[in-house]
Amino acid sequence: MTSTSWVIRGARPLGADPADITITDGTITAVGAGAGQKGAQELDAAGLIALPGLVDLHTHLREPGREDAETIETGTLAAALGGFTAVHAMANTDPVADTAGVTEQIWRLGRAAGHCDVQPVGAVTVGLAGSRLAEFGAMAESAARVRVFSDDGRCVSDAVLMRRALEYVKAFGGVIAQHAQEPRLTEGAQMNEGAASGRLGLAGWPAVAEEAIIARDCLLAAHVGSALHICHVSTAGSVEIIRWAKSKGWRVTAEVTPHHLLLTDDLVASYDPVYKVNPPLRTAADVAALREGLADGTIDCVATDHAPHPVEDKETEWAVAAFGMTGLETALRVVQQAMVDTGLLGWAQIADRMSARPAAIGRLPGQGQPLAPGSPANLVLYDPAASSAVDPATHASRSRNSPFAGLTLPGQVVATFLRGRATVLDGKPA
Ligand SMILES: [Zn+2]
Repeated sequence: MTSTSWVIRGARPLGADPADITITDGTITAVGAGAGQKGAQELDAAGLIALPGLVDLHTHLREPGREDAETIETGTLAAALGGFTAVHAMANTDPVADTAGVTEQIWRLGRAAGHCDVQPVGAVTVGLAGSRLAEFGAMAESAARVRVFSDDGRCVSDAVLMRRALEYVKAFGGVIAQHAQEPRLTEGAQMNEGAASGRLGLAGWPAVAEEAIIARDCLLAAHVGSALHICHVSTAGSVEIIRWAKSKGWRVTAEVTPHHLLLTDDLVASYDPVYKVNPPLRTAADVAALREGLADGTIDCVATDHAPHPVEDKETEWAVAAFGMTGLETALRVVQQAMVDTGLLGWAQIADRMSARPAAIGRLPGQGQPLAPGSPANLVLYDPAASSAVDPATHASRSRNSPFAGLTLPGQVVATFLRGRATVLDGKPA
């Protein structure tokens, strides 16, 4: 039987002074010097930072329906290798996760795979068609206990439907996660609308298409007194609107992706579809505003929007290529480069933005807990001094569409523990 009792020697909890972390039967029982425990496995973690297991609010696992791109097995292994102990699986599968049956199936496959917890996101509208609300109540009461609902990939653009959805989730303390994209303003859009799109002759995707929906939905959430979460914020204007909504005390939360914290639309000049993503890469000024928003808490958390695609859907001409990038296995490293190595956030705040906050927004009581006695032993050991070039061929994800391929990034996930069981050891699947 796999051990769930460990003594982890000399790790630095949240980047602080070295301590020994004792895990007994899947629970953290002591954090301090000189721990010992009969029958426990020992792990030398000198020089490594210990963080609570990361939680992703926005993962596309593609199963059921597109197992050629990813499966729950490969996607959750990729998550564990990235330091995650829980992921929220987006609903745009085939069939769509719009019933208790489909969400329970995804939840059960996640439990069976065992690499991290899989929390299904339910669709807002039946078949993501944007016309009729899905049965939130049945999904909420199912074994999957769905609390986050999203038509991600598509925007709930109908204001009446959005209002009803926000009202509906109040009954069980849920949240609507909006993919903010005004559809008429983005018809045929291929990249950020700006100087670069003009030069390249590609149809532009204006910032206002995102910002108009975010402003409207903040107002709707306030009007009905419900909880709104905004997916993958990508523009400076969006950050300003969210800052304003939060100053009013409204229940609005937001996420930013690692790629929007590091990459800009200049990369599209290569016409390499690995840089094609929804929402699009924006300008350096947007990147700076997103970093500032994450640093000051306007943006609550980092979420990967891990969007695997098979080679034939990505390595093609720009106009027909699929939108999306992989991200689970590089997320923490990209965030270290963008936020920690720039002095914008310390490790304790990284734990907040990548574990505690997303677990709270996703209503996952067993995740995002402090590294303290009594917490479930969900944690990641990370070497911030490591550095290596990203090679998607080595990734556990079934897809290879990483925009960071070839880029040298800091950091290395060394070990991940899910309720005391090692899912990753020595940087490899345990
Ligand atoms: Zn989306």
